[in-house]
Amino acid sequence: MTKQVNIGVIGVGHLGFHHATHLSKIKNANLVGIYDIDSKRLDEVSKQLNVPSFESLDLLIDRVDALSIVTPTSTHKVVAEKCIQNGKHVFIEKPITTTINDADHIVQLAKKNNTIIQVGHIERFNPALLALSGLEIQPKYIEVHRMAPFMSRGTDVPVVLDLMIHDIDLVLSFIDSPVKDIYANGVSIMTSSVDIANARIKFKNGSIANITSSRVAKDKVRKIKIFQQDLYVTIDFLAGISEVYKAMDASADDPDAIMSAPLVDSDGKHRQIFYEKPIVQKQDALKLELENYIQSIMGNETPIVDGVAGKQALDVAIKIHDKILEDLK
Ligand code: NAD
Repeated sequence: MTKQVNIGVIGVGHLGFHHATHLSKIKNANLVGIYDIDSKRLDEVSKQLNVPSFESLDLLIDRVDALSIVTPTSTHKVVAEKCIQNGKHVFIEKPITTTINDADHIVQLAKKNNTIIQVGHIERFNPALLALSGLEIQPKYIEVHRMAPFMSRGTDVPVVLDLMIHDIDLVLSFIDSPVKDIYANGVSIMTSSVDIANARIKFKNGSIANITSSRVAKDKVRKIKIFQQDLYVTIDFLAGISEVYKAMDASADDPDAIMSAPLVDSDGKHRQIFYEKPIVQKQDALKLELENYIQSIMGNETPIVDGVAGKQALDVAIKIHDKILEDLK
């Protein structure tokens, strides 16, 4: 079994810098070097992190087993293709690509070359979500809000592919049923593409998700509310807080968690609402995500978000975006 994974980072802008920082410290990862088309930025990060810089992508690819691709989304397909064709594992930042054809191509290519793809849907590693791992989540309805102040980074794609895709991936991980219908609309504010979007997704099992995303908000918001039989859960991904409200028989044994006086329901049972705020471990989601990648390459784990999951999230995102464009016509 591989004892150490030789890895390189492609694109050391805002997020790539953090990839390189973590990978220089993660157990079993050997950060061989970094590459960026912006030589000034490459030099700066190389000096700052004391990591070798490579003057060409080919030279870096030759020296490693695996890569983290943290370039703008519009370049993911071309860069990932080159890495995979050379037999290297790839971590591709979200979204996997900009089109379903490209995502399909990359997933098939990785299958043929027997390489791993992990996609950077980082919220799956958010400690506030991980704190709920013992809970059976089977939503009837999900309400999500994700807002961010405007920045030019990420605007090579519409807000649905930049921000909403995080929540689409989360919703698809919670609701195990095919998508039946999508209603969506949106507006352009700062760019020529869609900057604010709302989508209502109906699933074949009857569940519904309502997702709102904006990249022209005053403050950052990343909140999800999940409603299901006898259970209401809220997750604040930014504050790192989860809350659980559960209707149970009044005989439940934790008196501190009781929120309501018992009520006699129509079957004559005494029901009460219990409140719980699970302990959220202070952990860095990007570090956990990259550890999952390294351990998957070593054969000890499998990627929590693989290429197929990345493609599924993109598929729904593109359908939402197409509905918005139809509406704007
Ligand atoms: P950025 O613009 O800060 O950095 C991108 C870097 O890639 C730049 O330094 C640029 O010079 C370099 N680059 C561009 N084309 C390249 C190429 N062909 N080869 C090598 N280097 C190249 O962007 P960012 O905000 O770091 O975003 C990068 C990716 O990460 C995007 O796909 C974005 O969607 C994703 N992202 C994910 C999250 C998350 O929460 N998971 C957050 C931010 C960004």
